[in-house]
Amino acid sequence: MIYNFSAGPAVLPKEVLQQAADEMLDWHGSGMSVMEMSHRGKEYMSIIEATLRDMRELFAVPDNYKVLFLQGGAIAENAIIPMNLAGLRTGNGQPGVADYINTGSWSVKSIKEARRYCEVNVAASSEAEQFASIPARDSWKLSRDAAYVHVCTNETIDGVEYHFTPDVAADTDNAPLVADMSSHILSRVVDVSKYGVIYAGAQKNIGPAGVTIVIVREDLLGHALPICPSAFNWKIVADNDSMYNTPPTYAIYIAGLVFQWLKRQGGVAAMEKRNIAKAALLYDYLDSTEFFQTKIVKQCRSRMNVPFFLHDERLNEAFLAGAKTHGLLQLKGHKSVGGMRASIYNAMPYEGVAALVDYLREFERMQG
Ligand SMILES: *Cc1c(COP(=O)(O)O)cnc(C)c1O
Repeated sequence: MIYNFSAGPAVLPKEVLQQAADEMLDWHGSGMSVMEMSHRGKEYMSIIEATLRDMRELFAVPDNYKVLFLQGGAIAENAIIPMNLAGLRTGNGQPGVADYINTGSWSVKSIKEARRYCEVNVAASSEAEQFASIPARDSWKLSRDAAYVHVCTNETIDGVEYHFTPDVAADTDNAPLVADMSSHILSRVVDVSKYGVIYAGAQKNIGPAGVTIVIVREDLLGHALPICPSAFNWKIVADNDSMYNTPPTYAIYIAGLVFQWLKRQGGVAAMEKRNIAKAALLYDYLDSTEFFQTKIVKQCRSRMNVPFFLHDERLNEAFLAGAKTHGLLQLKGHKSVGGMRASIYNAMPYEGVAALVDYLREFERMQG
């Protein structure tokens, strides 16, 4: 048995890969692979419409929100967001100020890119504590005239996750909350109505790389700065049902299969229960021994990405080699953090986490 703990592109459900293989050469008797279809033909239209419908249903997206399929990944969104929203308050095509909360590597990247397009106020940061926690909401120094407030609700590299939904309306002039949910979207129930924009690259918890999902409240459309490329202007994309340019057709198809799989699992609430159980199994073991360590404050630990360290880092190579022989793949930590990282997204079964914990115990017994 192989279990793949990659942070992304990441494990997909076996059933989905099998179905894609079965349908690879001839989708539903059409005589074509999905890759070969016109994106405007009736076969592909049926695929993208079902994918959209299932995404809205699974994530309980309210009617006054658009769900868009874009390209460029979450990193492109770091520029696309200010280009679409920074002019929200000024109304004259000039960017205003945007507030950002800095909770880890992905926030740092978002802030750096946004600075190319607008003034950025870093309203709170946990950088001085090596991103071991999320700054408490009452410590945030928000701008009254912020165009929007940006958060990364799960830091894939650092391993912190918001377990609360920040309310920013009262301390700003009703600024929309914008969230990078790339690495935990669909892993837990979210009240979408609390956000102005939610975005996510697909390759962590949804499907293959290549499609970016943007969920945007309708009143936030139509404020793009003049420099915004048309293909990244959310209003133009929304008016064209994500077909202003050719969408990433095959990635959307696989995302659609994952959504069908999620529905068969009982939907997002059922997934959240499983994710809580998986994370508890792993963290409880890590907490029970001195041999392994975690550095994140307990209330801020990510359920999806679990960085951990061997007490004796000289054993890192032996640990990874042994993991591989046990079929436990891609456990090496991100180079900026070091140590190990287990990413345990929706498609990672409980048994995979149990196999990892068995290996941790065995390795400790052999070396400890
Ligand atoms: C992976 C990731 C990104 C970057 O996504 P790309 O598809 O490489 O642009 C951004 N933010 C978060 C939280 C991520 O996990």
